[in-house]
Amino acid sequence: LNYRQASFYKSAAKLSQCPENEGREVAFAGRSNAGKSSALNTLTGSNKLARTSKTPGRTQLINFFDVQDGVFLVDLPGYGYAKVPEAMKKEWQHHMTDYLERREALVGLVLLMDIRHPMKEFDQMMLNWSVSANLPLHILLTKADKLKQGAAKQELNKLKQDLARFPLVSVQLFSSLKKTGVDQLSMKLDEWFLA
Ligand code: GDP
Repeated sequence: LNYRQASFYKSAAKLSQCPENEGREVAFAGRSNAGKSSALNTLTGSNKLARTSKTPGRTQLINFFDVQDGVFLVDLPGYGYAKVPEAMKKEWQHHMTDYLERREALVGLVLLMDIRHPMKEFDQMMLNWSVSANLPLHILLTKADKLKQGAAKQELNKLKQDLARFPLVSVQLFSSLKKTGVDQLSMKLDEWFLA
C-alpha cells in the first residue's frame, strides 16, 4: 500500500466519535516524546500529517488518517506527560481501553519506544494487553540514530530475545532522522492490512 497517500480523516475524543467500525486500521501508541508523530510523518512522507511535540495537557484526541478506502492509520494520544493531572490520565486510560478492546477494525498495534529507554511500565502494559487480546504487535525502537550502529543492533537483539516467546510480537529499529526502517515498517503494515 502507498502510505504516502495518507491524509487526515478525522479526530475522535472517544470511541463513539470514531469512524464506522469497519475496514481495517492499525494504531500507533507510545509514551509522549517516543517519536510517534515523527514516525507517522516519516512513513507518510509528510512533515505535518501528525503534529510533533504536542503541548502537555492539550485535549487528547485519537486521530484517523486514511490511506485508501477502508484503510486507516490511527494516532493514539501520547501517554505519560508528567504534568497531566491524574484525572486526565484516568480519562485517557478509560478511552484507550475502550478503543483497544472494542475496536473490531483494529488489525495491529505499532508501539514506539525510544531505543534509549525501552520497555517502561506503559510499554509493558501495552505488550501484556496485546498478547492477551491476541492482537499483533510491532515494536519500533525509535531514534536508533542516537546509538552507534553496534549498540542499536545489540539493543534490538536483546529485545528480540525477550520477546521470542510471543509469536505475534515483532520488533525493528527505526529512525525518522535517518529515515531508516521505513520499508520494514511498510512491509509489516502491508502484511496486516492485506492479510
Ligand atoms: P511524540 O511525542 O511521540 O509524537 O514524539 P515526536 O515525534 O514529537 O518527537 C519527540 C522528540 O524526539 C522531538 O524533539 C523529535 O525531533 C525527536 N525525534 C523524533 N524522532 C527522532 C529520530 O528518529 N531521531 C532523533 N535523533 N530524534 C528524533
